[in-house]
Amino acid sequence: MAPTKDVYMVVGGNGFLGRHIVQQLLERGDIVSVFDIVERYNDVSFYSGDISDQESVASALRKSGATCIIHTASPHATINNPALFQKVNVDGTKAIIAAAVETGVRKLVFTSSAGVVFNGNEIKDVDERIAFPDVPMDAYNDSKAKAEVAVIEANGKGGLLTVALRPAGIFGPGDRQVMTGLHQVYERGQTHFQIGDNTNLFDWTYVGNVARAHLLAADKLDTPPPAPPLSAVTEKLPLSAD
Ligand code: NAD
Repeated sequence: MAPTKDVYMVVGGNGFLGRHIVQQLLERGDIVSVFDIVERYNDVSFYSGDISDQESVASALRKSGATCIIHTASPHATINNPALFQKVNVDGTKAIIAAAVETGVRKLVFTSSAGVVFNGNEIKDVDERIAFPDVPMDAYNDSKAKAEVAVIEANGKGGLLTVALRPAGIFGPGDRQVMTGLHQVYERGQTHFQIGDNTNLFDWTYVGNVARAHLLAADKLDTPPPAPPLSAVTEKLPLSAD
């Protein structure tokens, strides 16, 4: 049986990544609305509000009829404001979860960050099973990790299905952080510094691909896994005695 078609709400949908997610949903013919503190576009239904206000989120979910939330909202990583990170990323994400359960939303896709497992030391040859560091890199990454834990623990609560994605650096059209920062470095003449021995590596992903990963994650949340190939089943059958 084909999975039910979702109605989407992109929280933080007027931001860099959120906007790409909205555009990809529109391109494939989905119904989508945006919840954000900033109003920027006028091609989808817009709900103005702060995610730390559970009632605002719940009210927007009821009005929009959303069945799938894609939550990309966060203050910028570069600002030095631990209290705001706690309020928006931790308390706000918990408010979204509570509002989703209250209104019967089926799916929640959360944009976490690769930084949740980084504490300044090299990370090599690991996968998503690597533990969070004992001492987080900073207040931003600490808040993203706590939000991620809340999202994963909410899986199954009131029938809600959840998933968290961890992008590393995101680049592409609409970016307001990375290129602006690089340009400022250039304008200030700060280009003659080198960190490490010039062999450091860092992951960057094109924003269109990160957005697509969110759509695929949402789609897969309620798609039953495919049956294993027959060979895998027969290999596990006990050998007959004769
Ligand atoms: P962005 O600042 O462009 O977008 C974030 C959006 O969230 C903005 O539209 C903002 O108005 C909204 N928002 C902020 N606080 C809010 C609140 N309290 N209530 C409602 N809306 C609020 O950021 P982005 O670069 O698009 O990042 C999107 C997500 O991806 C974030 O969760 C970020 O942590 C994560 N992320 C970004 C990068 C990157 O390189 N940009 C890397 C890894 C993870």
